[in-house]
Amino acid sequence: MIIKKSPAEIEAMKEAGRISAKVLREVGKRVQPGVSTLELDEFAETLIRLEGGVPAFKGYGGFPGSICASVNEQIVHGIPSAAVVLKEGDIISIDTGAVVDGWVGDNAWTYAVGSISPEKQHLLETTEKCMWAGLDAARPGNRLGDIGAAVQEIAEAEGYGVVREYVGHGIGRNMHEDPNVPNYGHRHTGIKLEPGMVLAIEPMINLGTYKTRQMPDGWLVCTRDGKPSAHFEKTVAITEDGPLVLTTEEGHRRPV
Ligand code: MG
Repeated sequence: MIIKKSPAEIEAMKEAGRISAKVLREVGKRVQPGVSTLELDEFAETLIRLEGGVPAFKGYGGFPGSICASVNEQIVHGIPSAAVVLKEGDIISIDTGAVVDGWVGDNAWTYAVGSISPEKQHLLETTEKCMWAGLDAARPGNRLGDIGAAVQEIAEAEGYGVVREYVGHGIGRNMHEDPNVPNYGHRHTGIKLEPGMVLAIEPMINLGTYKTRQMPDGWLVCTRDGKPSAHFEKTVAITEDGPLVLTTEEGHRRPV
């Protein structure tokens, strides 16, 4: 069941979005060779609480971290660890979420660690482009398949694999609500997008095959061929005026 949000509720979600975005950006500034993903996690948790939020991921289904930190061939849900130390040339997806007054914000960005290969750079740029295209499709009059198609067309034109098993989602008082928001699909198909729907749109794009591998810890998901993967995410509200990004610091009214 899709839980639509009133304009007042969307307004209320902005604070969780603001904190999620600020923490993501600040963690991103601390991404550099020699830093462990546990250090990034501790910094993120401190900042989320300092800003007046509660980490959305910590304890979610038993997840131990306040961020997901997924390096190189790791797609999503990497558990922060002192044993994972970033090195020059890595890429790292950081996913952060905050809860404020019961509302959840969720966003992710893939950062370069120092200088990276042109191949990885292109993957990052393309995946970010996929995310913006998906966000731009989140408007009344479109259907759910328009979001997935927008993402898939850009990724596959570059020969990249679009992850199937993990998708975006509705979001509100729960981090994961209906509907699922696949990063693949056909235009003009699926449910109609309506004002009041709030979605986390999050393309996960692989340099090679779209196929994934669930790792033994029950959380971490990697590419099956070991090639790198990128992940970008924002929480967006569908309004009469079009998509409204909620996970942003630069004034809440910024349209896509
Ligand atoms: Mg998400």
